Amino acid sequence: MAVDRTPDPLVSVVVPVLDEAESIPRLLPAIAEALAGIRYEVVFVDDGSTDATLAIIRAAAAGDPRIRALSLSRRFGKEAALSAGLDAARGDVVVPMDADLQDPPALMPAMLARWREGFDVVYGQRVVRGDGWAKRLSAGTFYRLFNRVSDTRIPADVGDFRLMDRRVVEVIRNLPERSRFMKGIFAWVGFPTASVPYDRPIRDAGKSKWPLWRLWNFALDGITAFSTVPLRVWTYFGGLVALFAFLYAIFIVLRVMILGIDLPGYPSLMAVVLFLGGVQLISLGVMGEYIGRLVVEAKQRPLYIVAERIPVN
Ligand code: UDP
Ligand code: MG
Repeated sequence: MAVDRTPDPLVSVVVPVLDEAESIPRLLPAIAEALAGIRYEVVFVDDGSTDATLAIIRAAAAGDPRIRALSLSRRFGKEAALSAGLDAARGDVVVPMDADLQDPPALMPAMLARWREGFDVVYGQRVVRGDGWAKRLSAGTFYRLFNRVSDTRIPADVGDFRLMDRRVVEVIRNLPERSRFMKGIFAWVGFPTASVPYDRPIRDAGKSKWPLWRLWNFALDGITAFSTVPLRVWTYFGGLVALFAFLYAIFIVLRVMILGIDLPGYPSLMAVVLFLGGVQLISLGVMGEYIGRLVVEAKQRPLYIVAERIPVN
């Protein structure tokens, strides 16, 4: 690939942080070591932390001009925090990274090497996933389902950890939607893409911020933002049921004509009524999921609110 790359690119490492006071003091030296001899900045986005996170970032930024931060006015969620970080990043390439060292900074030079070859997106692909079996199973099921119902394919075992060229970042920043399912958006924009394999370690310190319910809603956001299949299946399902009902009606009429009237049938009637009632409620609920998201998009509220910039400017 013939692409001109600046010989001395600025690397922006974007780190959304929510209560990561324990992780940040370990993360910063790891980044400094990985990017020794490379121009870089670290952009922290404090997603409404309630522990010492912000104080630690402030202290770090005071001693190192390469460290900057945005503090959001409350917790907006990791996806919004990432968007804020992409908006603030100034680099020629941008690398979103978790604070807990699950995304190893040491991988960045290898990513940069692929970028220099001409790839605009270089994602880290987890070979070993250092999570519990429940998380692995639910994540695996989600990716399979997502890729089946969506036109956008998310590669397996890829998180937000990736290196993106400036032109990719600009495309993502200019997407109008409020619903920021980043894994899907990253995949949707395309561009020449390469991957670098790595073993994903377990969380270094602190604890995960994704309780089951939050993960479930995250998965729903992802599917509804990238697929309308859940809305459309009801047409086919309804068609099947109608066809079946039509055949059954013919059968009943013929039977009455041939055998005469036969009254019992309350249990089967009840079963059919309850079954169809349930199916209708489910399809209504699915519509509700989409309509709720339309409402959010229609309101056009900002994705995040910055309460403070460090340093101030
Ligand atoms: N995070 C955030 N806002 C949230 C949840 C998480 O900014 O609402 C940050 C968190 O501080 C970390 C990154 O997102 O830097 C990944 O979170 P976590 O390690 O909890 O996710 P997991 O690795 O368990 O998927
Ligand atoms: Mg983590």
